[in-house]
Amino acid sequence: MSDPIAADIQRAVAAVSIPDVDATLGAAGARIETRITADGPVVAVHLGFPAAGIRAALESAVAAAASTAAGGATAAKVSIDWSVTARAPQGGLTPLPGVKNVIAVASGKGGVGKSTTAANLALALAAEGARVGLLDADVYGPSQPTMLGVAGRQPGSRDGKTFEPLQAHGLQVMSVGFLVDDSQAMIWRGPMVTQVVNQLIFQTAWQDLDYLVVDLPPGTGDTQLTLSQKVPVAGVVIVTTPQQVAMQVARRGLKMFEKVGVPLLGIIENMSSFVCPKCSHEEPLFGAGGGADLAAECGIPLLGAIPLDRTIRAQTDAGRPPVVAEPQGILAQRYREVARRTAAALARRPADQKHKFPRIVVESGR
Ligand code: ADP
Repeated sequence: MSDPIAADIQRAVAAVSIPDVDATLGAAGARIETRITADGPVVAVHLGFPAAGIRAALESAVAAAASTAAGGATAAKVSIDWSVTARAPQGGLTPLPGVKNVIAVASGKGGVGKSTTAANLALALAAEGARVGLLDADVYGPSQPTMLGVAGRQPGSRDGKTFEPLQAHGLQVMSVGFLVDDSQAMIWRGPMVTQVVNQLIFQTAWQDLDYLVVDLPPGTGDTQLTLSQKVPVAGVVIVTTPQQVAMQVARRGLKMFEKVGVPLLGIIENMSSFVCPKCSHEEPLFGAGGGADLAAECGIPLLGAIPLDRTIRAQTDAGRPPVVAEPQGILAQRYREVARRTAAALARRPADQKHKFPRIVVESGR
C-alpha cells in the first residue's frame, strides 16, 4: 500500500473504536485492507470475533473515518466480516478435535446464575455469528437440558465410540443430564465426576465449533482444579453476584485458575440490580459496583452486568432463554454485548500454534 491516502485511511480506520468493546480496531487486532479505486476508497475489515450485532454501526463508523481521511470528497465502500481462530490453551495442552476454543464458565459457589449465564452466553455468541457448542459439565445439577428445551432426549452415536451432540436453538449440546438422572450424579465423588466430565468432553463428536462453552460445576475444589488442568481451556469467565460473600468466593476461583495458568477473560456480574416489573425502576439490591471493583482489583475486564429480572428466570427455566425468546429485547442485547466482549477478549490472546500447523511426520528407512 504505497498510496499515501490509502495509508492515511488505514491509520484512521485502525483508530475507530469498536462499539461495546473497549478497544479500537487496531488494538483488537483487526486486519484492515484499503484500496483506492476510481469510485473511491474501498475498505475491508476482518475481525477475529463475531460481531453481527454491531456490524452496521461499525460499518458507518469506518466509512465516516475513511471518507474524512480521504478528504471527504467521496464516500468509502466498507465491508466487515470475521473468522474465529484457535487461541492457545493453558499449559501447552492439545486443543479438542472439532473445537477451536473452549470457554469455561465458572463460579465460586452455586446459585449465582452460572448455568443461566452460560446458556445465554452460548446463544448470544451464536446470534453474533459463530458456531457454538455447550457442554453442561455441572454434574451436581445439570440444568442445560431444561434451559435449552431438550430435557428427556438422549444423544446417539454413529461410531459406537463418540456421542453425537443434540441440537438446541442452533447450538450443539451435550450434558451429563442426558445420560443419568440427577439423583445418581449427586452422589458421585470427585474422581468419578472428573472421569465423567472428561468422557463428555473428549468423547463427543463436536462439529467444527468456533467456541465450546463449558458450564463447570460450581466451586473451586479438587474437581474444578483437576478439570482446569486437563481440559484445554482458551479462557475462563467468572460469574458472580455483587454481594461481598459472593465476591470473596469468586476471588478464590480467580486465584485457582490463575494458579493453573488458565487465561482469565473477565467477570460477568449477574443479578446486578433488580428491575421492578411494574415501574422498570432499577435498584442495586445486593450493592453496586462489586463486579467492577473485583475486576479492577484483579486487572481483568468486567464483561457486563446482567440485571435480576424475572423474565430471565421464567424464559430460561421454560427452555427458551431471553436471547432466543426475545432476540430484539433489552436482555438479549445485554447478553450479546457480553458475548462480543468475551469473544473480543479471547481474540486478543496468543494464537494456538498447534492448531495452525499440521503435524509433520518424518518417515525414516527410505
Ligand atoms: P447456578 O448455575 O449458579 O447454580 P442457575 O443458573 O441455575 O445458577 O440459576 C439459579 C436460579 O436463578 C434459576 O432459577 C435461574 O432461572 C435464576 N436466575 C439466574 N440468573 C438470573 C437473573 N439474572 N435474573 C433472574 N433470575 C435469574
